[in-house]
Amino acid sequence: VPEYKVVMLGSGGVGKSMLTTKYMNGNFSDEYDPTIEDSYRKQCTVDNTTCILEILDTAGQEEYAAMRDYHIRSGDCFVVVYSVASMETLHEAASIAKKIFLIKETDHVPIVLVGNKCDLPEREVSMREGMDLARRIRSGFYEASARENIRVQDVFTQCVRRIKRL
Ligand code: GDP
Ligand code: MG
Repeated sequence: VPEYKVVMLGSGGVGKSMLTTKYMNGNFSDEYDPTIEDSYRKQCTVDNTTCILEILDTAGQEEYAAMRDYHIRSGDCFVVVYSVASMETLHEAASIAKKIFLIKETDHVPIVLVGNKCDLPEREVSMREGMDLARRIRSGFYEASARENIRVQDVFTQCVRRIKRL
């Protein structure tokens, strides 16, 4: 069974951990522990083929650039998360994508851009603005909510499809 490494990236507080745990076991917690960095394994079947996703939920790599670069080098696919409630996190997502292209030395990397917290009524980032960034970085795109379990599964299914397309 092939194994693929998916790396969760994005500003602190955007919902990387909640998306990961929601996908892994359906749990959602309002507890926010920004320091937890962990990896998870899940078997999944997409388009009739089975694989194992190893999901690395990163935390606070900003301060450890060498560590983040190492994770980028070793990743097969990247889930780049921003919060629709924060324009700053969209800008951060754009710079993370740039970093990925730089380190991978190619613009063709499987990336899924996720505008999380789409359940929130107040937003700073329109769907359009998210889609524009996705087009620029040639990534997949979903608005999602880890809290309401909206399109969480789709994000990881899209990862597998993008990995296999390469
Ligand atoms: P991380 O730092 O990117 O890992 O962010 P977390 O997953 O720890 O989430 C940070 C905070 O945002 C927590 O208080 C979560 O409960 C909250 N949160 C995460 N996802 C969502 C979501 O989809 N909707 C809403 N409303 N809050 C969320
Ligand atoms: Mg986290």
